[in-house]
Order: sequence, then C-alpha cells, then structure tokens
Amino acid sequence: MDRRVDLRSDTVTQPTPAMREAMAHAVVGDDGYGEDPTVAALEERFAALVGKEAALFVPSGVMANQIAVRVLTRPGDLIIAGRAQHVVSFEMGASARNSSVQFATVDDSHGTLVLGDVLEIIDAEADHQAHVAMVCAENTHMPSGGTPWDVADLRALANAIGGRPLHLDGARLFNAVVATGTSAAQYCEPATTVMACLSKGLCAPVGSLLAGPAGLMRNARIERKRLGGAMRQAGVLAAAGLVALDTMVDRLSEDHARARALAGLFAAAFPEAGYDPASCRTNIVAFDHPQARQIVHELEALGVAGGTVAPHRLRFVTHADVSDDDVARVAAVLAGFKPLAR
Ligand SMILES: *Cc1c(COP(=O)(O)O)cnc(C)c1O
Repeated sequence: MDRRVDLRSDTVTQPTPAMREAMAHAVVGDDGYGEDPTVAALEERFAALVGKEAALFVPSGVMANQIAVRVLTRPGDLIIAGRAQHVVSFEMGASARNSSVQFATVDDSHGTLVLGDVLEIIDAEADHQAHVAMVCAENTHMPSGGTPWDVADLRALANAIGGRPLHLDGARLFNAVVATGTSAAQYCEPATTVMACLSKGLCAPVGSLLAGPAGLMRNARIERKRLGGAMRQAGVLAAAGLVALDTMVDRLSEDHARARALAGLFAAAFPEAGYDPASCRTNIVAFDHPQARQIVHELEALGVAGGTVAPHRLRFVTHADVSDDDVARVAAVLAGFKPLAR
C-alpha cells in the first residue's frame, strides 16, 4: 500500500531538521528559577509579535487557555464563547474543573460570534443573572473549517463588551495571519490575552504561548505552577519554538493551497453534503455528512486518514507533512469513492 496520507490534524507534524539542530545546541537553565535564556527569548519574541507586554511558555494550548481562565475569572462567573470552540467543547470540562466557572454559549457555526448574541447575555446581568467575567473567541475557528476572523469584527466585539477581558484562542493565529494579511499584533490588539500553539502548523514538537499585560502574566506564572506546567530546562523545547516563529509562518500558505485543493475534491465527492469549497480559507476542510464516522473508517482503509469533530462532522487538516503527491493520492481515492450503503 502507498504511504498513508495523514489529514487527522496539523499536530502530527514532525519537527524540522533545523529544529532538531537548534534543540541539540540550546543554551538552557532552570526555568523554575527564571534562568533559561532560550525560554526567555521565546517569551520575549512572542510578546513582541503579538504586541503584548509579557508572555509565558506552557506545555499545551489547553493549559494556555486554562491559565487565561484562571487569571481572568472568579468561581461562579460566566464566560461567553462560541459553543463549538475548543475551550468549551474540547477541553474535557477543564474550565469547570479548574476554575469553577460556567459557559454561556452562543452560535459560532460561521466561525465568529454575533455581537447581538453576546450583548444579550451581558445585558442579562441586569436581570439577576451571573456576572460575565470574560469573552473568548477562536482565531482561526477550527470547527467551522479554520475560519479566520475579520479584525474589524474582533475590534467591534472588544469595544462592545464594556471593558470585560477578551481572550483570543489563537491556537492557529498564524494561519489567520497568513490567510488575511492582518498581522499578529493587529489581531491581538483588541484582545487582553492571546494564546498560540507552536505544535500545530508551525511544526514544533511541544508548546504553546500565552501573552498579555505584565501583571496578568505574573499571575499566569503562578497558575502555570499550580497546574503543574512549570518546566525546568525547557529551552530544548523553546529552541524549536523560536525556529517555528522565525521560519515556519510564511510556509502555512502552502497548507492553505493544498486544503483548498482538497476542499474541491471533497465537495465533488460528496455533493449531498452541500459543502462550499470556497469556505475553506486556511488549512481545514470540515463539513457535515450523515455517514461521517463511516466515511472516516472507509477512507482510512484506503490510506486517507481524517477524523470527526462532532457526530456528523468530518474534518481533514493539511500541514507541512502533506505534499502535492498526497493531495493527488486523495484525489485518486475519492475518484472512485462512495460510502457503503448501511
Ligand atoms: C489544538 C487547540 C487547542 C489546544 O492545544 P493543545 O496544544 O492540543 O492542548 C486549543 N484551541 C484550539 C482552537 C485548538 O485547535
């Protein structure tokens, strides 16, 4: 059988040779004492990129989101977020467990939050309902198909929420940057805090960053410790992260081009899904199909690995380890493909 085309996620990427080289030679120290110069360099580099005072290197994107929730809420508070967002639906209830908060969710099927929906929940504070401590937006928005925000909409959201903090889950922030030409700093200007993953399209093996005002990031450092995420000679990981930020951002446009090609192929293979390939603007092809899980199973047997992100929602993700030959192989598989009747 030909090599398997792995479209399950952009997290499956291998670190590049330049990353392994940088990791081998990284100057490290005990970051628990603030003595790892490579971690410090990565945090400064990211803070500058997103236009924030300070940043914190953490083991995962989930932890970055969870620390943001810890520093921006008190137990019993509400967080407004889109109902399919990662922080709501893909973190195993972590915000309830770690911070004793609730979500007030709004529709995000098109990738953004509708201002009126958000304001309705905030307005209900006047009717004896719980305090809205923060709003969380996702850019790109994964479940809708990697949708990038329009920065004007983010700014309007930030302006409308009455001084409440806005946390930007930018796991794939740099995909949004490359797709729209909006800079990371422009995207993050309306946000109080922002997180981005180094370990997805940017190909670093481990790690995410959280950035925001210096005072909040001092608290974030304490919460990282509480959650068990303080690391020691983490410069070996940060070294790969620096290579990721310095050399792997522009390359994301190649993932986007291949995702667009795949979007056309999937739309043609499953006309009954009504998927509009033009909705694919970054590296994620996502669409609903009643036989989603069965399709994943059958395509896997043919050497094309994808996944589902909801009971009837398929997802295929491009990344640095997906080539034009892989796209051609998917085309060949889909050309003769029909899910078995059940
Ligand atoms: C992947 C992802 C996360 C979590 O990142 P991990 O490093 O897997 O913990 C958070 N938010 C979004 C939108 C993601 O896609």
